[in-house]
Amino acid sequence: MKPEELNFLVIEDDDFQRRMIVQMLRTLGAAEIREAGNGRLALEILNGLEHKPVDIALCDMDMPEMDGMEFMRHLGQKQEDIAILILSTLDRALLTSIETMSKAYGISLLGVIEKPIALKQLELLIFKFERPHKKRRDPIVSADSFSLADILHGVSEKQFEPYFQPKVDMSTEKIVGAEALARWIHPDHGVIEPYAFIPLLEQNNSIDELTFLILEKSAAACRLCLDKNPMLTVSVNLSLVSLNDTDLARHIMTIVRNSGLNPRHIILEITESAVMTDLAHALENLARLRMHGFGLSIDDYGTGYSTMQQLTRIAFSELKIDQSFVRNFDYNEASRIVVESSIDVARKLRVKSVAEGIETQQEWDTLKSMGCDIAQGYLVARPMNLAAFMQFCETHSA
Ligand code: C2E
Ligand code: MG
Ligand code: MG
Repeated sequence: MKPEELNFLVIEDDDFQRRMIVQMLRTLGAAEIREAGNGRLALEILNGLEHKPVDIALCDMDMPEMDGMEFMRHLGQKQEDIAILILSTLDRALLTSIETMSKAYGISLLGVIEKPIALKQLELLIFKFERPHKKRRDPIVSADSFSLADILHGVSEKQFEPYFQPKVDMSTEKIVGAEALARWIHPDHGVIEPYAFIPLLEQNNSIDELTFLILEKSAAACRLCLDKNPMLTVSVNLSLVSLNDTDLARHIMTIVRNSGLNPRHIILEITESAVMTDLAHALENLARLRMHGFGLSIDDYGTGYSTMQQLTRIAFSELKIDQSFVRNFDYNEASRIVVESSIDVARKLRVKSVAEGIETQQEWDTLKSMGCDIAQGYLVARPMNLAAFMQFCETHSA
């Protein structure tokens, strides 16, 4: 959107820097600019606003009294539709944890700008901003709207469906597969996204039934699409906690076999994590699955700790670069390096590189020039139900 149509809040304790940013926003033609010297003052401003709500808050992290992280926590609790632009001098690793944290708090993060701030970067990010058309989320559905019992009841009633987000080959632009993303089709609240049920299921070690349900429906869907697209794969997300159970691989194999699908059409996505509680059990499962022909993908690559170690421990077939790097690399040198080297690692290990979260043509062009194999993101398509996906396959297959 154009800066003239937007209201800003600048949260920065350093007077000089704050004035500089305000000046830049004026140069860009910002409609309304408010200022605060720390998070607490920013919250006071937000609480006092009835009209002209803030669209974008530019927020420093290191501030006295209430720092940027605490501010984001309060903002998440208030469920306000404000996009955050982080201003920071912090190093990349720390920023990545802050991005992950902001996701967990349900904050919509527009991006991270490293100081000193360049006008061009700021302008690019502001143009990317879109005001949420309706409330981003159904206001009655927050991350803690449902109890574990509610969710498990929904699972036993099979109210959960995979939505499919296409993956396309970057050189041919043809569809090669889809990621299955769980949606709860709630009888009263409509379509509910994973933030409202996955974390609770994982924390209570109760995610397996959902995994099996999504896998079963995804395998059936994949079979339906093979007529039109014989090489299609469907990627299903696996929680790390599930890998503790050494029977997992056998369950997965039974489900896929019963659906009449060859396992080579299923890719299992695993998020790398430092807290692989039982490494041996996890590796046993993964090796067994790979042995039976399943594809294995490292999801959110770059955000974990022991990246290289895991790669060498198990034969993965795909490396999925986390969207936080893709989102930032136009203007963030460190992100660009992470993306470039991830693609390089994939090429050397002879596995596919997938970039997720591609939203702009510019991101597409850069990734393509870096030699990335497969693209997934809103630029191609948002996740959609099976009927819409089958339609999509018709128009995007060879
Ligand atoms: P993920 O596996 O990393 O999936 C990618 C997420 O990014 C999806 O969010 C997808 O809708 C979103 N996304 C894709 N392209 C773009 C884009 O261009 N821009 C933006 N802003 N977002 C994009 P979703 O569907 O909300 O899922 C969130 C997470 O929930 C997933 O992250 C995955 O970790 C988890 N999840 C989803 N379904 C399942 C499931 O069946 N089982 C398990 N264990 N986890 C699941
Ligand atoms: Mg995934
Ligand atoms: Mg991911």
